[in-house]
Amino acid sequence: MSTNNRTEPSRQTLSEYHSVVSSVLECKELRLSREEDSSLTSLQQWLRKLQRDSSTDDEDKLDDSSRAYLHSFRDNFTRYSLFLRGHGEVVGDSPKVPSAARDRLNPATSPSLAAEFEKLEEWDAFDVNRVAQLTQGRPLEAVTLEALHRFDLLEKLKLPREKLRCFLRELEASYKASNPYHNSTHAADVVQGLATLFAQNSFMAQLTDLEMLSMILSCAMHDAGHPGLTNEYLINTCACAALRYNDQSVNENSHAALGFELLLKPCNNFLEGLHNEQYRFVRRTIIGIVLATDMVDHSRLTKDFAAAVRQLGCNLETWPEEQRQRALQMLVHACDIGNPAKSLHSSLLWSERILAENFAQGDRERAEGLAVSPLCDRQKVDVPKSQLTFLEYVVRPTFEALRDFAPATSAAALRNIEAAKQHWEHMQQRAQKQSAAPLFPIDDL
Ligand SMILES: [Zn+2]
Repeated sequence: MSTNNRTEPSRQTLSEYHSVVSSVLECKELRLSREEDSSLTSLQQWLRKLQRDSSTDDEDKLDDSSRAYLHSFRDNFTRYSLFLRGHGEVVGDSPKVPSAARDRLNPATSPSLAAEFEKLEEWDAFDVNRVAQLTQGRPLEAVTLEALHRFDLLEKLKLPREKLRCFLRELEASYKASNPYHNSTHAADVVQGLATLFAQNSFMAQLTDLEMLSMILSCAMHDAGHPGLTNEYLINTCACAALRYNDQSVNENSHAALGFELLLKPCNNFLEGLHNEQYRFVRRTIIGIVLATDMVDHSRLTKDFAAAVRQLGCNLETWPEEQRQRALQMLVHACDIGNPAKSLHSSLLWSERILAENFAQGDRERAEGLAVSPLCDRQKVDVPKSQLTFLEYVVRPTFEALRDFAPATSAAALRNIEAAKQHWEHMQQRAQKQSAAPLFPIDDL
């Protein structure tokens, strides 16, 4: 939880850090894997080299993120060694000493990831699926950390990197990898879309650090724990979540609640240094944004935003708080439904994934003797028509509403929407001619 009392960590020397790492390597109870052993040995060697190359043994030789990491590493190990000796208890989850060390040094993936992150601020060029491969299925952690770092939010708000990393790891694990669409790669894609909106358009300069932080976290949390089923299914089947949230934005309420549940665990709470007022602002903003990702709010949100731009112009600094919050919701919503407005290859990939998830629900409904939901019946859905309808009546109006506010990204998105429309019109014509052509004619779907 938030607190106004921030205590300064005690200072250490490079020798002391070296000694902690050596102790971890020698601690037999930890049963390090070969990979962990190798990472820690690299860390040990790096510290030794730093000592050799420096005239003093002071931790000032470390950059901020390395120092924060080593502080956390030392604290975790000290706590764990007390636990092993029966003199204390582990607070929060099991110690993460070995995996933390492994993450600090990941030479195998770093250069490739760095190359991909060069394109983080490009709407079309960034390949989130490649990042998912390079991170062994942890794209959300990697992309969110990179986005927060890119906009200097860790430094400006003094957020502890290791707790943030622990939170993101648990958050990512809450996403069901078996969901074709609502998985952590989708969440990472939404974070990247927002990074592009920030970087390509001038409104970013009108946002506060806390607003930017809240928006990035909202993107990361916005589908946490998604069951791969729609709100309608959960309501129709009287699922626990529907009962808990009285049939109101069932999935979205669940995502926000789960995200904060994970965040507030002591080992994950990287916002603990915020003042109460700051924390309350972040919480209120994230909840508002995540709830606004419910598609039932789409038309009202888009209309509200377009009306605000007409009345107030594009300078957020002149917008009253209520409209300002709606603008933040609109921007994240655009990223959430923005994948059909990315490159054609990416757009078709995400279309196939959402259809697969919808059809799996339809199969389940049929097996359970329920009426099959609209767009979920694999035998009846006219795929080109459904895609054209979504592009024309949902995605296009969203990016048109952003035309003056975020002109660079909106222009790229509208171009891509046109290309996707042409593809689906072509597919529609072929289907009408009863062609056996595949709906997704790209190689690796
Ligand atoms: Zn989503």
